[in-house]
Amino acid sequence: MKYIFVTGGVVSSLGKGLAAASLGTLLELRGLKVVLQKFDPYLNVDPGTMNPFQHGEVYVLHDGAETDLDLGHYERFTNSNLSRSNSTSSGQVYETVLARERRGDYLGKTVQVIPHITDEIKARLRKLAHEQPCDVLITEIGGTTGDIEGLPFLEAIRQFVLEVGAQNVVIMHVTLVPYIKAAGELKTKPSQQSIAKLREIGLHPQVLICRTEHPLGDDVRQKLSVFCNVPLDAVVEARDVDHTIYEMPLMLQQEKLDDTICRLLALNQPQADMTNWRKFVNRIVRPKKRVKIAVVGKYIELQDAYKSIYESLTHAAASVDCGTDLLLVDAEELEEKDPSLVLKDVAGILIPGGFGDRGVEGKIRATQFARENSVPYLGLCLGMQVASIEFARNVCGLRGANSTEFDTKAEHPIIDLLEAQKDITDKGASMRLGTWPTKIVANTRAFQVYGRDEITERHRHRYEFNMNYRAQMEAQGFVISGTSPDGLLVELVELKDHPWFLACQFHPEFQSKPNKPHPLFKGFVSACLAHGS
Ligand code: GLN
Repeated sequence: MKYIFVTGGVVSSLGKGLAAASLGTLLELRGLKVVLQKFDPYLNVDPGTMNPFQHGEVYVLHDGAETDLDLGHYERFTNSNLSRSNSTSSGQVYETVLARERRGDYLGKTVQVIPHITDEIKARLRKLAHEQPCDVLITEIGGTTGDIEGLPFLEAIRQFVLEVGAQNVVIMHVTLVPYIKAAGELKTKPSQQSIAKLREIGLHPQVLICRTEHPLGDDVRQKLSVFCNVPLDAVVEARDVDHTIYEMPLMLQQEKLDDTICRLLALNQPQADMTNWRKFVNRIVRPKKRVKIAVVGKYIELQDAYKSIYESLTHAAASVDCGTDLLLVDAEELEEKDPSLVLKDVAGILIPGGFGDRGVEGKIRATQFARENSVPYLGLCLGMQVASIEFARNVCGLRGANSTEFDTKAEHPIIDLLEAQKDITDKGASMRLGTWPTKIVANTRAFQVYGRDEITERHRHRYEFNMNYRAQMEAQGFVISGTSPDGLLVELVELKDHPWFLACQFHPEFQSKPNKPHPLFKGFVSACLAHGS
């Protein structure tokens, strides 16, 4: 088994996750079995309790692990099926070590970062390698070289290299090569210094991925090679992509990154056939038509908060040869402004998931606009709850309808806490999480979209549709088109008298892939196209 460790230097947000995922794509298309994992140096046990403004989207794996959005890139760019073991934070490592210490397992010893924390990191690495055997395990280390938090991970990797043999390991350092306008020059010093920091710890990167706005000239490549101590052909230019992140594997292939990696790891594999990938990218870059879709959310100013949703829309649109123009609407804005002014020329409205009451009334108004004006509508998680509240209030006349998340004394608790959730006090990892089956009702839009009556989707929520209101709502044209197999939990709802109005309690955005768009997104984008033309 071979190991690639991806570190980052100079600044954060360099796209390390994308670089790791893109390398995964290339190696997989060369016929190798690839697994990816992430080490996150922060002390939170998982990002589940972090604010999206701090952390971006929380990506949910099939086993219910709440993880970093980079795991979303890994799953979208490769076929690897990730689990809890593919995401390790310092918080988890410390939690394990401290629990062991409390049990007395260390038999009176002083518990220290080295060796106890580093041993636990190595143990997790080995466990993953054992559980998910593969040809190449790619591990991304979050944060930037020089961060104090990252040190135990880097030390653990240093020891691990000794144990598995340097010939089986590549350290790939993603760095920034900034352009100084006044001097008209690309600067290599920050990269030299971040490499020096790694060398201090005993890690010697063999590949340098250089994030840059300008092409690296031969002189700059030469300089980086000599001063960072990597072979010339291992200095890889990674310019900002022009159109889409999916260009990244193509760009890295052009730079022969996968050739270099295969050479360094003595992997004798044929070239990657990028035909299908290239076709997919071309459909994104040169779509035949365009469609305007509104996303009404609470974190729309933050690019990363709804990452998987935007990616899913891209996949779906590409599959019908169309491009999307997204109108990102701050839900709070719709609490004051007339939704018909803001949403008048959109071909579809999407309401993403969310927590807390900020902006909810704006989302309800956007939903009412979609329902009354026959605009295609897709509601995700909170989006389904909002659709139910809107219908109860404005069609069934239940004025006091609400979710008890927003009004604990709601007169009509259309959305309420699950019985099993009522006694839970810990906020971390205590929601209904991960993959659960849904039974779809025949002759519904949902059935038409999925083309089958049993599906599995990933979840992350605490509140549920309140079945006491089912009969009253259905009498007015609200359709419950999917439930849990026991029929107790509502998973999909739709409207009878509407061209395309679907909402789900789960998160379909976690199962969409580039050449495998999710049926709900594909159905939605197709409906938007029909509506817009
Ligand atoms: N806040 C809602 C709940 O907990 C919806 C969650 C979500 O949209 N992910 O049920």
